Amino acid sequence: MTTRKLPDNLHRDTLAVRVAVDKSQYGENSEALYLTSSFVQPDAETSARRFAGTEEGFTYSRTSNPTVASFEQRLAALEGTEAAIGASSGMGAILMMCMGLLKSGDHVVCSRSVFGSTLGLIGNLFGKFGVETTFVSQTDIAEWRTALRPSTKLLFAETPTNPLTDVCDIQALADLAHNAGALLVVDNCFCSPALQRPTEMGADLVIHSGTKYLDGQGRVLAGAICGSQALIGGVFAPVVRTAGMALSPFNAWVVLKGMETLSLRMRAHSSGALALAQWLETQPGVARVYYPGLASHPQHELAMRQQSGQGGGVVSFDVRTTSPESARSNAFHVVDSTLVCSFTANLGDTKTTISHPATSSHGRLSEDQRQAAGIGQGLIRVAVGLDHIDDIKADLLRGLHTLA
Ligand SMILES: *Cc1c(COP(=O)(O)O)cnc(C)c1O
Repeated sequence: MTTRKLPDNLHRDTLAVRVAVDKSQYGENSEALYLTSSFVQPDAETSARRFAGTEEGFTYSRTSNPTVASFEQRLAALEGTEAAIGASSGMGAILMMCMGLLKSGDHVVCSRSVFGSTLGLIGNLFGKFGVETTFVSQTDIAEWRTALRPSTKLLFAETPTNPLTDVCDIQALADLAHNAGALLVVDNCFCSPALQRPTEMGADLVIHSGTKYLDGQGRVLAGAICGSQALIGGVFAPVVRTAGMALSPFNAWVVLKGMETLSLRMRAHSSGALALAQWLETQPGVARVYYPGLASHPQHELAMRQQSGQGGGVVSFDVRTTSPESARSNAFHVVDSTLVCSFTANLGDTKTTISHPATSSHGRLSEDQRQAAGIGQGLIRVAVGLDHIDDIKADLLRGLHTLA
C-alpha cells in the first residue's frame, strides 16, 4: 500500500478529523484503538534500541501507545504547538507539569481563581515539597508583577475562570513571565483550542482537561500538556514514563473521536450560552449574569480578542435575593425545579449541566474564602450543552418564576 502524507497548511477543521498516527493495517477509515499494555518485539537488537530510545517503536503503554500518540498529534495540531503529551486526567497533566518543572526552593505565581484542585495541588501538595506559591488576582497584572521573585519558575493562569468567567490577559502575562525568566502555563479547558490558542499569545505551555470539551460527551477522564518538543519530549515524557500518570488508550481513543466535532460543538455551546446569558439579564429573578460574551462583562473586549469572538459555553448568575439567608434557598429552589438540566459538577457535555458552586466545587472553602473568591450562596453555574436553548430557558424559568 502506498502511504500518503497530509499536505501542509490544512485548515484546523480538516486537521481535527485527519491528524493521527498512520498505522492503518486494514484500510480502516476510523482510527483503530490499540488496547494493549505492551508490544511484542521483533528481535532482541531492535528491542534493545527501542528501550534505549535510540529507535522509534512501541514497547509498553506507560511509555507510549499508538492511540495515545494519535490523540497527542491531533491535539498539538489544533493548539498549534510542536507537541503534546497525554495524561490520565487534567489534574494528572498539572501534576506532570509540576513534577517536570519544579523543585524545592522554586516559586510559582498563580491566579487565585484557578480550578480548586489546582489550588490544592500547587499550593498544598507542592508546598509540602518546598515549592512556594503566591496567589494573586486573576485580572490585576500589577499584583502578578509584584509577586515575582528571582526564584519564580512559572506563572499559572486559567482563562476564563470557573465559575465567574474572569478573563486574564495572556499576552501581558507571557511578557511578564519571560522578562522574569519564567514560563507561562495556561489551563485552556474552558475555551479549548477551537476558540483560544494560548501559545499564539505567548504562553509556553497549555494544560487540558480532556474530560471536558475535548471529549465533549461526558464519558471519560483525560488530560494533556501542549508545548515545545524540547519540553514535551525532554522533560514531561520521562515524568510520565517514571511516575505513571499515563493516558489510557481507550480514553485517548474516545477523546480523539470527540475532537473531530470540537469546533462545531464549541460554536454551538457559545451561541447557546450567549442567548441564555442575554435572556438571563432580562429576568427579574436574576440579580447578575457572568458571561464573557456579554457587553456588561468587565473584560468583554479582551475576551472577544482572545477567544475568537466567542464567549464559550459556561454562564453563571446570581439569583435575586431579599436577604442573605434566602440566597441559598433561592438558588437551591432554581436547581431543584429543573427537569431537563443535569444537576452535576461536570461541564463541556452535550447535556446542559447545572451546579451550585458554593456547595460543590467551592464547598470545602471557608465562608470567608468563598466571599473573597466572589462565590455567593446565590450563584448558579450553567454549562450549556446542545439541548435546544428554549428548553433550557423554560427549565430555569420553572424556579425563577416561583422564587420566595
Ligand atoms: C476539570 C478541570 C480540571 C481537572 O481536570 P480533570 O480531568 O477533572 O482532572 C482542570 N482545570 C479546569 C479548568 C477544569 O475545569
